[in-house]
Amino acid sequence: MTERVLPFNEALAEVLSHASGLAAPREVESLPLLETSGRVLAQSIAAERDQPPFDRSTRDGYAVRAVDIGAGRMLHVIGSVRAGDRWTGQPLTQGEAIEIMTGAPLPAGADAVLMVEHTTVAEEVLRVAEGRLLRSGENVVPRGAEAHTGDSLLPVGRPLGAAELAVAASCGCASLQVFTRPNVAIVATGDELVELDATPEPWQIRNSNSYALASLVRAEGGIAQRLAIAHDTLADLRERIAQGREADLLLLSGGVSMGKYDLVEQVLAESGAEFLFTGALIQPGKPVVFGRLPGPGKSPRQWTYFFGLPGNPVSTQVCFHLFVAPLLKALAGRSDLAPRFVEARLAEDVKGGARVTRFLPAELVSTWDAVTVHVVGWQGSGDVAANARGNCYAVLPADVETFHAGETVRVLLR
Ligand code: AMP
Ligand code: MG
Repeated sequence: MTERVLPFNEALAEVLSHASGLAAPREVESLPLLETSGRVLAQSIAAERDQPPFDRSTRDGYAVRAVDIGAGRMLHVIGSVRAGDRWTGQPLTQGEAIEIMTGAPLPAGADAVLMVEHTTVAEEVLRVAEGRLLRSGENVVPRGAEAHTGDSLLPVGRPLGAAELAVAASCGCASLQVFTRPNVAIVATGDELVELDATPEPWQIRNSNSYALASLVRAEGGIAQRLAIAHDTLADLRERIAQGREADLLLLSGGVSMGKYDLVEQVLAESGAEFLFTGALIQPGKPVVFGRLPGPGKSPRQWTYFFGLPGNPVSTQVCFHLFVAPLLKALAGRSDLAPRFVEARLAEDVKGGARVTRFLPAELVSTWDAVTVHVVGWQGSGDVAANARGNCYAVLPADVETFHAGETVRVLLR
């Protein structure tokens, strides 16, 4: 097996190129609108009618002809129209005004709305506030300005949240077609691991990775299948990988380093794996492995992708955010795949000098004045507690001696 250790950006590009090449999930299901929240849209949604469906007032005030508004002008108020109703009288003519509420249709003949704040009205005579002028179209959203009937509002592949549900509801969609969720097999490997119901001996470690991964898988729209812990033996790993490759994606934690009992890659290789990379120049997470196994015989799928994630819990989670999430999103039918980075100011000096790109557990603090990132103190990639004290990862590029307080750095959101 030849090693292929890539710089971070190349490793990410490799994942993204495979992820964006995946065909959309084949299976769709129809769900009531509210149950589609968090799922991925498998149909497109087009405007059911013009939006707004009429020239809509955006203010409480008076529908008028803009040309009639000038210093000191007085207008005659001939009626009133409210949201949920329409003007049925004669079209408005010169010198007239019709009281109108926000969301009501503009009466024929009017071309603008004068805000109520800019008027005084007594006995159907409206006086325009001193110096106030009005443009044609002011305080009105014309029919069809937001969308015309048939315009595409949401494409296939959009993750569904409040904004998307509002669009679907505005088009009268009581149910939506969404993609079925991909199955993700999770295999924790390691002779030191015990499950939650066991009392660990002093030299044993509880299996936390399976839970972190299952939670991350769910958050990215997959169905997590936690398989039993695999011991560091060929037999155990063979059995678990045979089981896991039936899923849409296989995640292994542990066993991908250089130790004598790190056998995961060996078993993947003998199972016919194609390795796309066998490491990335990142810290934590350098031994991460990405590849694919020929799809199981009975499945129409050609490949089952897998990740071998380094077992240290922070490495596992960082590698999930960087590499697993994009592939999983693609399997779930999404088209927005790349991890999300933002920029923030470093709160304090951080020692650099590493030859790899680092992703340090950190806390992003947003105030009105500034967005800053504080690197949390940690004991290295086994420190689950420090990782949980943060809410993001500060990204520190390779080969920089010191990162100074106040400098802008990238932040990986989680
Ligand atoms: P490995 O990548 O197999 O060399 O594992 C590195 C370290 O990560 C081990 O020494 C364990 O302490 C820890 N580790 C491995 N797997 C898990 C797991 N499933 N849950 C929590 N910690 C783990
Ligand atoms: Mg191990």
